[in-house]
Amino acid sequence: MKLDDYIRMGSGLANFFCDPERTGFRKRYYPNTTTCQWSDWRWQLRHRLRSLQQLEEIFDLSVEEKAAIQRPPFPLAITPYYASLMDRQDSNDPLRRTHIPVMGEYRVLPGEADDPLCEEQNTVVPGVVHRYPDRVLFLVTGVCATYCRYCSRSRMIGDQAQLARSWDTAIDYIAMHPEIRDVLVSGGDPLRLANGLLDSLLRRLRAIPHVEFLRIGSKIPLVLPMRITAKLVKILKKYHPLAMSIHATHPKELTLEANQALSRLADAGIMLGSQTVLLRGINDNLETIRPLMHGLLKNRVKPYYLYQCDPIRGSGHFRTPVETGMSIIAGLRGHTSGYAVPDYVIDAPGGGGKIPLAANGMVGREAGMVLLKNYQAEIYRYPDPVE
Ligand code: SF4
Repeated sequence: MKLDDYIRMGSGLANFFCDPERTGFRKRYYPNTTTCQWSDWRWQLRHRLRSLQQLEEIFDLSVEEKAAIQRPPFPLAITPYYASLMDRQDSNDPLRRTHIPVMGEYRVLPGEADDPLCEEQNTVVPGVVHRYPDRVLFLVTGVCATYCRYCSRSRMIGDQAQLARSWDTAIDYIAMHPEIRDVLVSGGDPLRLANGLLDSLLRRLRAIPHVEFLRIGSKIPLVLPMRITAKLVKILKKYHPLAMSIHATHPKELTLEANQALSRLADAGIMLGSQTVLLRGINDNLETIRPLMHGLLKNRVKPYYLYQCDPIRGSGHFRTPVETGMSIIAGLRGHTSGYAVPDYVIDAPGGGGKIPLAANGMVGREAGMVLLKNYQAEIYRYPDPVE
């Protein structure tokens, strides 16, 4: 069956669909597992790869990977589904590099910190970061389906109990601040919460009259797409207007399964946007970012943010020069649909918030005219009205 056939079938399917391409991997490494089990998100979570021994059963690990896996500074977990997308022999496989540690994680460069964005400083009650005037970040869980090695919140990942305890105080804080009209529910990954808990969390937030807009940040549609069940979607669609920021790294993630998960969310009227972290040797070139952005659009996800990688401790091997991001954006803007061009931003170290970086189209003034440079570096004049 071709991709377009799957797209046409979309969310009409009662059960989760498994790409036949995954069957070979499943039969080889999980010979006693049925398609039905493989397509069950709880099975996927229970069978995540978390140790050197489990990884060695599937991957030809490099010496460096083996050394780093012995003592990773923060948790390691990969769903069997996500592992099936990685190259088993090549340690430079892009998805593998984002999830299997290397020794670079132990090298701390100047300017790196555990909490470079100063989220702790802007934490007003446990779990709530209130940095911008009319919106808050609500960290509802410390667990994810898989752990990205470049995670900005690696300092608190896995600390489920500490964050879970703070919901009441956090919701009270939001309720007592009428200026908060937008709540970004994040973590960890909020879709790791059980359906009942997520339902009650969203219900409580939606019951606050001044909260106009809810957002969820998640990587789960791409690393555990089977989690996007009909039941989950039924819960989510009760809380419109609801948006979801999908954390996407590489075109390899846009599989038929991911397409099905994203179709279900889009069909339920959830606004989908993406966020992508620019990562050295993984997606730091136009040849990777362009198909990723096009692929997201085909999946009804609007490319939203391209992030410069945050300077967390041990992130030097992931970070790219700012010029790289600028040149990728220059290669997109004007050369492809505006819908496919994300904002390139740096989340300012020290807690300054997201700062967009863009080539300035306005390059000067001349006799009542504004001088503009287009995507082909040609200069045009716009007659600026006199006040
Ligand atoms: S999914 Fe998000 S919160 Fe979880 S490890 Fe990856 S970057 Fe961090």
